[in-house]
Amino acid sequence: RAKESGKNNCQLYNSIMNEESLQQLVMENALRKALEREEFSIYYQPLVDTETGRISGFEALIRWEHPELGLLSPADFIPLAEATGLIGPISEWVLRKACTQNKAWQDAGFPPLQVSVNLSGCQLQEELVETVSGILAVTGLSPGYLQLEITEGNALQNINDCIERLNALKMLGVHIAIDDFGTGYSSLSYLKKFPIDTLKIDKSFVRDVTNDEYDAAIVSTIIGMARSLHLCVIAEGVETQAQLDFLRDQRCEAVQGYLFSRPLPVEECEKLLFKQMKRGRAFDSSGGIFS
Ligand code: C2E
Ligand code: MG
Ligand code: MG
Ligand code: MG
Repeated sequence: RAKESGKNNCQLYNSIMNEESLQQLVMENALRKALEREEFSIYYQPLVDTETGRISGFEALIRWEHPELGLLSPADFIPLAEATGLIGPISEWVLRKACTQNKAWQDAGFPPLQVSVNLSGCQLQEELVETVSGILAVTGLSPGYLQLEITEGNALQNINDCIERLNALKMLGVHIAIDDFGTGYSSLSYLKKFPIDTLKIDKSFVRDVTNDEYDAAIVSTIIGMARSLHLCVIAEGVETQAQLDFLRDQRCEAVQGYLFSRPLPVEECEKLLFKQMKRGRAFDSSGGIFS
């Protein structure tokens, strides 16, 4: 009998929610608690000047140290965070944490660098300007050392509101980058409408840049266009020496990718920064760590 009623409960349960939504619910609850339990951390990936081999900044990339599942990438939980509205507090945490860290590095005596933080689409819809200026005030970081990355998809809704907010951020002195450039639907009109400082060429174009003539043409066109428009340009996802050579040839000023470094925890970044202070640069011309 017990077995039978157990089976009935199970059936009832199944009719209410399938396994997938149950899993979703479990994840959502875990995500809700992750902030207070301090399970998030930020890894920082160096941006490297292609001419000098110097680190010119870091991109802040969130990780979730899940108690059972281990280290999770943003793709594993950012969509859920966006769907549940938890993205707001999480993003604010990332911003505060990254600004605090960057100021701490400056206070420790490292030459000042820019930290780049990814915004989610939802953030562009809200009190972003107040949040950012509040965090800058509290952390004491100068606005010029903060860059915000938006994707073309992010800003598509309420475009005029977004432009207004980005202009206000720009007035604060914060820098704006377009992330994954070229993958959206309206890249070129964005360039005209948005107060942009930097284009980040999406890694999907960089991947085959040395053996696909279309990708090569697209990448060199974006670099040339950025130059004409006086924008900074960064290539993402640089993994090989050949890709780096191509980009250097095209005078792409900065790169980011596994060739130089994966995203790193704070202490590893500090080792690189020490190296850079002592030797003038962190990386050699082939992406190795400068000895
Ligand atoms: P993204 O902003 O385009 O970040 C670059 C991604 O490419 C990172 O993945 C980075 O680890 C990865 N990457 C870097 N170099 C290479 C390479 O040489 N090869 C390859 N294959 N990949 C490389 P990650 O850390 O998994 O982040 C994925 C995306 O999640 C980010 O893409 C960004 O859109 C989003 N994200 C990360 N952190 C945050 C955050 O704090 N808030 C929000 N809203 N989104 C975030
Ligand atoms: Mg990014
Ligand atoms: Mg990107
Ligand atoms: Mg992205």
